[in-house]
Amino acid sequence: MLKGKVALVTGASRGIGSSIAFEMAKEGADIIVNYASSSKNAEEVVDKIKKMGNKAISIKADVSNYNEVAKMFELVKSEFKKIDILVNNAGIVRDRTLRNMSQEEWNNVLNTNLSSVFNVTKQALQLMGDGGRIINISSIVGQYGNFGQTNYAAAKAGIIGLTKSLAKELGKRKITVNAIAPGFIKTDIIKDMPFFKRKIIRYMIPLKEEGNPEDVANAVVFLASEKSRYITGSVINVDGGLAF
Ligand code: NAP
Repeated sequence: MLKGKVALVTGASRGIGSSIAFEMAKEGADIIVNYASSSKNAEEVVDKIKKMGNKAISIKADVSNYNEVAKMFELVKSEFKKIDILVNNAGIVRDRTLRNMSQEEWNNVLNTNLSSVFNVTKQALQLMGDGGRIINISSIVGQYGNFGQTNYAAAKAGIIGLTKSLAKELGKRKITVNAIAPGFIKTDIIKDMPFFKRKIIRYMIPLKEEGNPEDVANAVVFLASEKSRYITGSVINVDGGLAF
């Protein structure tokens, strides 16, 4: 479904991002694997994609830093000339009640999860032709809130507003802009959650299990493909029914 396409995935060294990279590569896309610090993991992702017969490179760049993102795009331009699909996936959590949250914890989460989407998308658009695809990874927490996550919820809600506004701006170029709101997905980001809390959440999920990274990646592949041509400004929940 993605033969001949070039896709940039931010935060693709681990978790949901690496799964998105693999699933898009399986559909024929060449992949740029962005990451912040896990060089070894990023190289493993690249090697695996190359073994599938696709072109792939990894680029270390902190997506919260506009200048680092600019350097990343210099490399993207020289190696690939264009971008057809952008997946804004990189994200972090720094959970604490607002009363106890430091300004640094607030700023880090807002900069990494939301300002990054501005930094990367603004620069990616210079290499994206008509008919491109932008997919932003939000969260059900951006729709419903969560105890101890005011910073994360604000960033993820911001992504939804950005997605809908940008979809209106880019529609005339047939570039679609959509968001995915995952629920609880088995990755490092939820590994520190207490066992009993995970058990309660599992009970609350209608499908009675946490999701796999591939569940999110499959929705991304659909949104990246021609099959989703008439969908823009939408948020697709991938949450086992938790948030309806
Ligand atoms: P994860 O396993 O912790 O992976 C996070 C990825 O983001 C890593 O590749 C990491 O790179 C990268 N990253 C972090 N900060 C970065 C920065 N400043 N610049 C560039 N890359 C950076 O997390 P995940 O669970 O896969 O989450 C992926 C996305 O899904 C996030 O946006 C998250 O908020 C969202 N999400 C996850 C869940 C869930 O339950 N897992 C639910 C809803 C939404 P390094 O390896 O180099 O650190």
